[in-house]
Amino acid sequence: MNTHKPLIPAQLHWRDDTPEAVDFGDIYFSRDNGLAESRHVFLNGNDLRERWRQLPPSSKFVIAETGFGTGLNFLLAWQLWLDTAPPNATLFFISTELHPLTHADLQRALSHWQELAPLSEELLQHYPNLLPGFHVVRLAQGRVTLLLLFGDAQETLPQLLDSQHSDFFAQNPWHVDAWFLDGFAPAKNPQLWQNTLIEQIASLSKTGTTLATFTAAGQVRRDLSAVGFSVKKISGYGSKREMLVATLTELKKSHTIINKTPWLLHAQPQAKPQHITVIGAGLAGCHIAHALAERGIRVTVLEQHAQAAQEASGNPQGALYTKLSANNASLTRFSLSSLQFALQHYQQPHLKTAFHDCGLLQLQENPDPALLDLMKNNAQLAQWLDAEQTSQISGIALSRGGWWLPQSGWINPQQLCKALLDHPNINAKFDCNITQLQRDNEHIIIACANASKQFSHTAWLPLRAVRGQITQLPTNTTSETLRCVVCDEGYLTPAHQQQHCLGASFIPDDTATDLRHSEQQHNMSLLNAISPALHNAWQNEKLQGRAALRCTTPDHLPMVGALPDREIFLRDYAALRHNAKVVINNTGSYMNGLWVFTGFGGRGLCYIPLAAELLAAQLLHEPRPVPQGIQQALAPARFVIRELVQTHAGR
Ligand code: SAM
Repeated sequence: MNTHKPLIPAQLHWRDDTPEAVDFGDIYFSRDNGLAESRHVFLNGNDLRERWRQLPPSSKFVIAETGFGTGLNFLLAWQLWLDTAPPNATLFFISTELHPLTHADLQRALSHWQELAPLSEELLQHYPNLLPGFHVVRLAQGRVTLLLLFGDAQETLPQLLDSQHSDFFAQNPWHVDAWFLDGFAPAKNPQLWQNTLIEQIASLSKTGTTLATFTAAGQVRRDLSAVGFSVKKISGYGSKREMLVATLTELKKSHTIINKTPWLLHAQPQAKPQHITVIGAGLAGCHIAHALAERGIRVTVLEQHAQAAQEASGNPQGALYTKLSANNASLTRFSLSSLQFALQHYQQPHLKTAFHDCGLLQLQENPDPALLDLMKNNAQLAQWLDAEQTSQISGIALSRGGWWLPQSGWINPQQLCKALLDHPNINAKFDCNITQLQRDNEHIIIACANASKQFSHTAWLPLRAVRGQITQLPTNTTSETLRCVVCDEGYLTPAHQQQHCLGASFIPDDTATDLRHSEQQHNMSLLNAISPALHNAWQNEKLQGRAALRCTTPDHLPMVGALPDREIFLRDYAALRHNAKVVINNTGSYMNGLWVFTGFGGRGLCYIPLAAELLAAQLLHEPRPVPQGIQQALAPARFVIRELVQTHAGR
């Protein structure tokens, strides 16, 4: 099995409270004048104060850095941004890091800088788990977005592009405005400072992009010039004689980046919307409306029912759960990223009332060693407990060990949807049954679960309804001790308003929503596998419940992204029918203004918050919160590409 390789945290040697990297034999910042040096090299080197003073309102600015380290450069950029940029502009700060500091080390390193304390505290509060991949953190009430790419910069930077095809770099929906090249001295870290890295830097830049670095090494200067930067040596800070600044004047063609068919890129760039219509006010519709409203976009939500969250999102208690795995497949990578994002997201004060973070147990016979390894430094996310510990933590007798997610729990989806819609930029209209799409340069997001297929442009989407029935159980003396959510094949929640929720049946292609005795019995058998004692305690109870339809896809991943023009895709990419590997130099044709946001199955509470950030980023041309590989795995157009490739495989 291809697994996520665990990260190796920074190995530090401390002199007073100043960290040095043991493996690189280099320092993170200078002890005497770290702040002044960092400001001189990176902020002044990119002329940020002047550039930010001149920014138009509502604009965005993207910085990318090699080597996040202690986050000092980031904090200084954030501080300057608050001082100089217009209040409704957004700073995206992207930073790569191969060996992240642990939370405790970061806290110690940042304790050095009193004047940065309020920002450091906010960063420390949201500092991500030490897991490979992208981690997005929204700070300063949305004015600053930090995107941390944990892993080798050479592998993570290309994942920022929508297409790695070198003819199409200029068509990426966004570019870096200023680069901070840190990452230890080239002589001490030659693995990072290769010309392939400099080519990747160029691939994410546009004419006018600037760059600053503390080093003046001749090789770096030559590599930057070779890709089209015009490079200048200026005086370094203090005793350092020289450093480099550069501006991209002409992007030169890259030779080392492998071309792939750029079907994720849009043939016609879609105009950035001022107003967006969302169809559906379930968890999906409410979340995407909220993510856009937070970015200053006006949103109208149209819902056929009289209230939000009436269908699959209408269960009284939903577990914030996904299957944990160290597997490197898109599904598990997305699951793990979305879970981490969701855990932070639901802690926001206006959403917290719907979130009961009592913890969640996933029972299992034995832990997968690769997952144990991955979670070694991430006990705050998930830790393995034996049967004695699971019994103790849950408050009921359990015969198996399991994964304990201390920050997870259950959510009341209706309460959550109401809180999400309660935003000055959102206008929710109920009792509106939409049967036809008419587009007048309007952006429309289709987020109505299985009904998303009802329009002529979407009828081909391979969505499938799966009936699910939950059982509601009154509290009794055996069950009232249950303190957390317990998941196995089924799940049981702690009591809320004297009722527990037990789920759930799984019946594909059955679209009736009547309450069935057979499925109550099925749920009780799931409970029996968790706890025979609880099963017996409810044996003679008259059971209540609720049935609804999940909306699923063939590969169990949701559909998030632009709606392709299927006919043109089939025509443009027809050569894939004969050779799945052929590179076709055509960008994808998408239905102007139509977006799909559905297919979350039973995992909406976990998947939707990050997916909403992804769709909002696509709509507004922002850096994405997930790698290109995941964007592609979630794109609705994947099913058309797969159809072509499978025709070939089946011949
Ligand atoms: N900018 C940082 C700050 O403000 O604290 C200091 C960066 S420190 C001098 C260099 C960082 O580059 C280290 O944290 C190191 O782990 C990271 N690094 C080294 N090689 C890397 C690679 N191949 N990919 C990503 N990061 C790398």
